[in-house]
Amino acid sequence: MNAPLIDPFGRHISYLRVSVTDRCDMRCVYCMAEDMVFLPKPDVLTFEELSRLCGAFVKLGTRRMRVTGGEPLVRRGIETFLQELGSWLGRPEGQPGLDEVTLTTNGSQLPRLAQAIRAAGVRRVNVSLDTLDAGRFRTITRLGQLERTLEGIEAARAEGLAVRVNMVAMRDTNEDEIDSMIAWCGQVGADLCLIETMPMGDTGEDRTDRYLPLSLVRARIEQRWTLHDVPYRTGGPARYVHVAETGRRLGFITPMTHTFCETCNRVRLSCTGTLYMCLGQDDSADLRRPLRSGVDDQALMGEIRRAIARKPQGHDFIIDRQQTRGVGRHMSATGG
Ligand code: SAM
Ligand code: SF4
Repeated sequence: MNAPLIDPFGRHISYLRVSVTDRCDMRCVYCMAEDMVFLPKPDVLTFEELSRLCGAFVKLGTRRMRVTGGEPLVRRGIETFLQELGSWLGRPEGQPGLDEVTLTTNGSQLPRLAQAIRAAGVRRVNVSLDTLDAGRFRTITRLGQLERTLEGIEAARAEGLAVRVNMVAMRDTNEDEIDSMIAWCGQVGADLCLIETMPMGDTGEDRTDRYLPLSLVRARIEQRWTLHDVPYRTGGPARYVHVAETGRRLGFITPMTHTFCETCNRVRLSCTGTLYMCLGQDDSADLRRPLRSGVDDQALMGEIRRAIARKPQGHDFIIDRQQTRGVGRHMSATGG
């Protein structure tokens, strides 16, 4: 067995997020600019190349993988890639293998793909949905249709996939819908997770006006709902409460008000083979170059180890009236 990946702060790196494409059929206001220029195809790793890199991570002790993007389900051949990752599930104890493969999606392609996703071994999906109002949905996603995402959630539930709805909470945009979203998620049998806007990439908008600290939101939610902290964790950064009235979990991802870095167990691989050791820092390692130069698995794993040895302690995101400090790349490039 290879020694596990431990970063300079003693954190065991066992979770990889893989962005399989920077492309998307939506242009959410907090994520992308309206006129995004996408990567030329030769820059993007083939699924064979991505699978090889993922295999190297598994051999180094990665136990969870989340497939994301861009919109992962718009890339042709995604079903086969998911099956490939799924083949690492259920391996004998003590052997390299995955405990879980999950997916983050905007839901638009789930009616078509939910069955194949389940067949590949995925049991949980995160679906982004910031509003239940069709007009607002169009304004926020610029290109999306609410109906498609709702059908996608239904298709996932019908396949027996557990669904967590991801809602980026934005001031004066959807903050008035948080109560109705909690109630709706209870009705459809989904958990809900609220996310603070992070300053990543130019979206053509000033983020200061939309930023909503979740500490404020939680206090407001508590006036209407009975919340109990629960120790439930999915390996990601969300902290959960149980909502007594709906029987569902409600998660909070609070990179801005309460940094989640101390327990960070994750790194992110972009579709070009760039490894980002922190969502909120610019340092990265180019794994495409060694991969395409034909190195063997041991050398590839050596590159990964050297990168993990540079994982920083945490991010330096700031959004307030005085300043906004973030990173230049978009969330869709890094993989949310
Ligand atoms: N297209 C898929 C989706 O929307 O779920 C997967 C990729 S998307 C980049 C992953 C998650 O990141 C989504 O839940 C999205 O809402 C969130 N996200 C994107 N940009 C963000 C930002 N600047 N701050 C906080 N969350 C962001
Ligand atoms: Fe696309 Fe997801 Fe970014 Fe929205 S958040 S633009 S759906 S990648």
